Order: sequence, then C-alpha cells, then structure tokens
Amino acid sequence: MVVQTERDDATWYECETCGLLFDEKGDAAEHEKRCDGADPSYIQ
Ligand SMILES: [Zn+2]
Repeated sequence: MVVQTERDDATWYECETCGLLFDEKGDAAEHEKRCDGADPSYIQ
C-alpha cells in the first residue's frame, strides 16, 4: 500500500511494505505492484 506523507514542504509517497519514498505517486504505485516486501538492499 502507498502512503502519502509530507516532508520538507513536499509530498512524498511511501511504499508501506518496504519504506521506500517516491516523489511521484505513479512511481510508488508501480513499485508497490512489484514490491515483495523483501529488504530493498537485497538484490535477487
Ligand atoms: Zn516497496
């Protein structure tokens, strides 16, 4: 799920699964569809 958050007078969209932040809601939504909840620093 994508969560909208305000920071430094800007709106960010956070992937609730892994915590990644995006400045575009579309980017966050696209990521969230593919996010498997794994540690984002771990490349499979
Ligand atoms: Zn994610």
